[in-house]
Amino acid sequence: MSSHRIEKTWKDRLARVLPFGIGVTKPKHFRDMLGIIWRNRDNLGYAYKVLTKGVCDGCALGVAGLHDWTIKGTHLCMTRLNLLRLNTMPALDVKQLENIANLKSLDNAQLRELGRLPYPMLREGNAPGFKRITWDEAYALMAKKLRATTPKRWAMFVTARGVTNEIYYMAQKAARFLGTNNVDNAARLCHAPSTSAMKHAVGVAATTCSYKDWYGTDLIIFFGANPANDQPVTTKYLHEAKLLGTKVVMVNPYLEPGMKRYWVPSTASSALFGTDIADYWFPVTQGGDIAFLYGVIKILLEKGWVDEAFIREHTAEFESLKAACAKLDWATLEKHAGLPWRSMEEFAELIRDAKNAVLVWSMGITQHNYGADGVSMVLNLGLLKGWVGRDKCGLMPIRGHSSVQGGAEMGAYSTAFPGGKPVNAENAKRLSEQYGFPVPDWPGITSVEMVEAAARGELDLLYCLGGNFLRTLPEPEHVRTAMANVPLRVHQDIILTDQMFIPAKEAVLLLPAKTRYEQDDGGHETTTERRVAFSPEIPRQVGEAKAEWKILREMAAATYPDRAAQLGCETGWQMREEIARVVPFYDGVQHLNQTGEAFQYGGPHLCADGKFPTADGKAHFKAIALPAEPVKSSGSTTFRDRQSAVGSRQFMVSTRRGKQFNSLIYAEVDPLNGAPRDAVLMSAEDAAELLLIHGDRVTLRNELGTYAARVHLAPIASGNLQVHWPEANHLIPRGIVDAGGGVPDYNMRVTVEKV
Ligand code: SF4
Repeated sequence: MSSHRIEKTWKDRLARVLPFGIGVTKPKHFRDMLGIIWRNRDNLGYAYKVLTKGVCDGCALGVAGLHDWTIKGTHLCMTRLNLLRLNTMPALDVKQLENIANLKSLDNAQLRELGRLPYPMLREGNAPGFKRITWDEAYALMAKKLRATTPKRWAMFVTARGVTNEIYYMAQKAARFLGTNNVDNAARLCHAPSTSAMKHAVGVAATTCSYKDWYGTDLIIFFGANPANDQPVTTKYLHEAKLLGTKVVMVNPYLEPGMKRYWVPSTASSALFGTDIADYWFPVTQGGDIAFLYGVIKILLEKGWVDEAFIREHTAEFESLKAACAKLDWATLEKHAGLPWRSMEEFAELIRDAKNAVLVWSMGITQHNYGADGVSMVLNLGLLKGWVGRDKCGLMPIRGHSSVQGGAEMGAYSTAFPGGKPVNAENAKRLSEQYGFPVPDWPGITSVEMVEAAARGELDLLYCLGGNFLRTLPEPEHVRTAMANVPLRVHQDIILTDQMFIPAKEAVLLLPAKTRYEQDDGGHETTTERRVAFSPEIPRQVGEAKAEWKILREMAAATYPDRAAQLGCETGWQMREEIARVVPFYDGVQHLNQTGEAFQYGGPHLCADGKFPTADGKAHFKAIALPAEPVKSSGSTTFRDRQSAVGSRQFMVSTRRGKQFNSLIYAEVDPLNGAPRDAVLMSAEDAAELLLIHGDRVTLRNELGTYAARVHLAPIASGNLQVHWPEANHLIPRGIVDAGGGVPDYNMRVTVEKV
């Protein structure tokens, strides 16, 4: 078995001497930037203000204006530039909505291009289209329905698209004012397993370190993460960290090309000749991370390559982890991991030789029915080495969307109140006293459960603040039927999406929202490294759009006008004063009022000096079972041992994101790997076995249907395939969620047939 160190081929060596990656598949940053200027040419002045004054509405890396808190130079990427048009585009002509027959044939990219939603619009029953109504009429319609129903028969979902903490805060306050905890946000679909696993292990639910800890650490290990695509400026951090000697390790079925080599546009040497990022690649099979890490931990324990003093003084439940390791045999671990013992040993040797490390994970770990268990194993590894609470070390669930870290912290979560406090009688009582109205003490339904409740006819109103369940959840046709089964559906958004055209039993209401930049009194977001950053109001008015938090407040006030004063928060400034009182670790947010003003709650390191905010003050290991494989049949889900599935003629398929922001797709071909949207990434070994070559048309098939795809040869673990999300979502079985957090399992099994 050869080493997992990434060797340079002659092509790699040639690419290093040819400037700008000539002849290599890579993003064409400078060409694309010119395209962005052209697309925003009708509003360049406003675009400039957004870029120089705003806190980025893209990912959660975090930047204010063009500068961040980690590097000296410019911080800018194509994700942010692609999103710019959402902030500069004019209003759409609402006449087009009068008859939606023609709009139904447009995809979401085309709908986005129509422009901003400018006025409240109403579609009654199966009417041919929407008609314009006033805000008062919209509020009256929602208020009537909310008064007529009961709190458990309505629900609200809040997306992460540019949403600020003020919007999350008011969403949960309005929902609880109206008597329900059925309020949930997009974090449910990504890092909910990290929240539950981290709370158990270390007592916090956020990244424990700062990006600065990447600089000078011995190892940065990425588990199921592709930050070159999801947080592009991290490649600049990695470029600089590598100059200081940091080694980068990837544990992932696919050697993501952007993580292998990247051309950082704002770093001259990298823009010209590129940067080799990953040093090691361990191609675990899908879901094999748990077995792989068990194997690694088994070796670390056998050889004594752990921090015994840290384990003794600062942790609990070590013996149960040790006992679980002892019970597992190597043949089982190798089969589950898809990698041999020697690979685990090589990884363990890297761990042995590192004094410090930052462990980073993302959706490749969390979006499984065993997502929280995967996170627990990463945490177990970090705790064995004491890689938490000190410089150059950390546990880092890397966040995709700009504001998603703040969603649960503000309480827009069906299972948590503001401050991330669990929904229970004691916390409900305390919050009721703070708010002056009764707060319900029963846990609400999660995002996924909202759709299931709708399908069963248990919701009278579904309020979607952004998002697009039709494109983000498994089995879209089931989602369509469920959405149509709700009497009143409300979509608060800045643009049109295709879920808005699903009729409702009684009516569909569209509410035009302001962007985060237009939002009255500005707003703040929380970045991956817990930095609470202020983005000032950059005034612009599109039609009658309103600040998202104002719409929520006015909807609640219109429902119970006699109690409206209890909502408080009449301005953004007042709301931030209240957030500072209700969520004490956000104290300071009330003083932020300029671009770039920010604070990092908890300081650079959470759990500093081995002190953990758990009941006993210790970190907790967790022994978990190896994952079982979900088996879907006749509408019910059971689980079988993964071993019986691995190695069969069925392929394991993961869904991946290309050049897109959530379900907004920006390019038909991913510039990082050249894969078209209908690509199925396949190893050369598997392709040869199936007598396929690059570009061949194939059909992926499982019990839910078929998907027409084109073979795209890629360095990916044999037996694993990847397809784009959301295009192949109809093959993902619904109803399979992580027990620890409610995240849907976005993976599937298929057979492959040549067309
Ligand atoms: S890396 Fe993230 S925060 Fe930075 S500019 Fe790009 S999208 Fe915005």
